Amino acid sequence: MRNASPQAEDDGAPAARRVPDVAVFSAKAYDRQFLDAANDAGVCRLHYLEAALDADTVGLAAGREVACVFVNDVANADILKTLAANGTRLLALRCTGFNNVDLAAARAHGIRVVRVTTYSPYSVAEHAVALLLSLVRRIPRAWYRTRDGNFTLDGLLGFDLHGRTVAVVGTGRIGTEFARIMTGFGCTVLGHDALENPAFLALGGRYVGLDEALAQADVVSLHCPLTPQTHHLIDAPRLVTCKPGLILVNTSRGALVDTDSVIEALKAEHLGGVAIDVYEQEADVFYRDWSSSIVADDTLERLLSFHNVIVTGHQAFFTREAMSTISRTTIASIGQFARGERLTDELVAA
Ligand code: NAD
Repeated sequence: MRNASPQAEDDGAPAARRVPDVAVFSAKAYDRQFLDAANDAGVCRLHYLEAALDADTVGLAAGREVACVFVNDVANADILKTLAANGTRLLALRCTGFNNVDLAAARAHGIRVVRVTTYSPYSVAEHAVALLLSLVRRIPRAWYRTRDGNFTLDGLLGFDLHGRTVAVVGTGRIGTEFARIMTGFGCTVLGHDALENPAFLALGGRYVGLDEALAQADVVSLHCPLTPQTHHLIDAPRLVTCKPGLILVNTSRGALVDTDSVIEALKAEHLGGVAIDVYEQEADVFYRDWSSSIVADDTLERLLSFHNVIVTGHQAFFTREAMSTISRTTIASIGQFARGERLTDELVAA
């Protein structure tokens, strides 16, 4: 394929600017709004598809050099093989996590992969704090009551976060921002991570093993990526060892947690509460309106039945600032690809 550099070619004639066609999967109205704004210079042609990328929809990307996907789109070996056969050469993730992509298969099929390495860590960290406060101060329950003219306080008893111990699993960009906010509340922060982050230590954070973190903490918040090593990191044996009354917050990826074990720990009143923005089987439910039909996922419905569980539908990233950066970074990566430049946010298989 000709490298369409915008610079002059040997004969002095300017090279035609290459404008790739992009199949944008899982596109909602807000994706269009922010991506169109980021693409105002016409770096690429965006073709929006409501469908998520999976085995049934992969053909929709035929002839598109770029496929742009989100958290619940599936990019396994079979799908990447089909994408490559149909001409796709770049997979652009509109997110940070990349557990849904088989990077080795992408490389084998000649598809390069970019993600949004960093956008607003504040968006996710602040949402984790919002979930935590909503849970421990019973805000959704209180709001339902006052809307109904009920101003009683029974069942709304909370606890102070000040003086509590908060464990942060994964002290990268988001985890450290979450820890920073928690220190502002007067909490002691414990960290668990394979790598020590100087910014976390500078907050006064102390690194401990996961079991020690769970045994000491009143609140644990998950901020590590989903990998084979972190799959069901919070499982039944771990939940037995955690401090009774522990509040579990998960804004990272659903499969970090074994949901059935969490339900058992809630039923046993060993866990004090759970606040999640992500759920292991969310791909079948999230980002769709089921309010006039039936949610077929019994595990999710059981979770939602607890008074001390709060679920949001993978919205922690969803701020104006984050959407703007995600879109601008995605278009910038596609531009780099089109111009044959180094891909700043390229993901390479280990
Ligand atoms: P990051 O790479 O800056 O930080 C991740 C940290 O996890 C790193 O410090 C890494 O060393 C650590 N880690 C890796 N394996 C670990 C393990 N086994 N145990 C403990 N720590 C481990 O990433 P980030 O930008 O902070 O994002 C963290 C995660 O948040 C992403 O992987 C993604 O899954 C999730 N996320 C969710 C949303 C949302 O909307 N809910 C949005 C963005 C990101």
